[in-house]
Amino acid sequence: SEGKIISVVGSGLIGRSWAMVFLSGGYRVKIYDNQPGQAARAAQEVRKQLEELQQAQMLRGQLSAAEQFALLSSHDDLPQALEGTFFVQECVFEELEAKQSIFQAVEAHVGESVILSSSTSCLLPSAIFSRVQNRTRCIVSHPVNPPYYVRLVELVPHPETLPAVMDSTHAVMTRVGQAPARLSKEVDGFALNRVQYAIIAESWRLVKEGVISVQDIDLVMTEGLGMRYAFIGPMETMHLNAPEGLGDYLQRYREGMRRVLSSFGPVPEFSGEEAKSITQEMCDLIPSDQQHLSARRERRDQLLMGLAKLKK
Ligand code: NAD
Repeated sequence: SEGKIISVVGSGLIGRSWAMVFLSGGYRVKIYDNQPGQAARAAQEVRKQLEELQQAQMLRGQLSAAEQFALLSSHDDLPQALEGTFFVQECVFEELEAKQSIFQAVEAHVGESVILSSSTSCLLPSAIFSRVQNRTRCIVSHPVNPPYYVRLVELVPHPETLPAVMDSTHAVMTRVGQAPARLSKEVDGFALNRVQYAIIAESWRLVKEGVISVQDIDLVMTEGLGMRYAFIGPMETMHLNAPEGLGDYLQRYREGMRRVLSSFGPVPEFSGEEAKSITQEMCDLIPSDQQHLSARRERRDQLLMGLAKLKK
């Protein structure tokens, strides 16, 4: 990464996190925002967070907080922010029009070989990059919040993306210590949200049907499935859970899995009376005022920090 420049376009929550991740890998980072002064404020926030992480001995990478911060510059001017870059990570609002126009603007200021990467959570690459001329260098790199502790990045190609662009993006992400997962083609929700929504849907149905409480379905995850899922995915879980591995697991459990799966109900509405009563049950456990929610978010980040340490 010696001297190589990555441009981060959009300096909100995710832009700042990406900047910190790239700095940890020793890249020079130029952060840009179209709100005047916003990128500079973001840089100061990054400085503060790097120092706090250093104090907590959670700073990533080989460089000190001061050394990492010295690699960061902030810009209100797009061409300046793109000068010398080899990789652009876009983190603007999750709006199709905003993404399409920023990539059109970015392309006008960078060479053919510069990789254009989007942080989008749920827009498809074929939609986001529709106004880019050379779409072979376009890719989605979808992070999970907060990317500093949760290392997965889903790499999702545009139908025209070159394999070399996927490989280079994979190499950048690996170098900075993220855990890139490749999708071979675009699909609505990518992989993470498809799995997440499957879990949410069945949890919702069980609560709605009065089978289990909000509190206890969360326990099923935190004290059950979640215990292994931080280390062992669903495929390896099956492989380990029968004496002779996956083939054996299928022999034993195929019918049971199919029976249970075919009893799942339709996609929930997530609205009306059911939403009202489930929301109420959740708010009785954790009130939805800012004080309670912030405290729980802080707890979440502390726990994720501890887990990241453990996984190392
Ligand atoms: P945010 O609202 O915190 O930040 C967006 C930033 O982009 C703001 O600072 C805004 O001023 C700037 N911006 C808007 N239009 C711009 C433009 N044309 N040029 C330059 N800057 C512009 O949003 P966020 O949570 O950081 O999300 C950014 C992207 O990351 C979204 O696509 C989102 O879906 C994705 N993402 C978010 C999360 C999450 O949990 N927040 C997780 C994964 C992916």
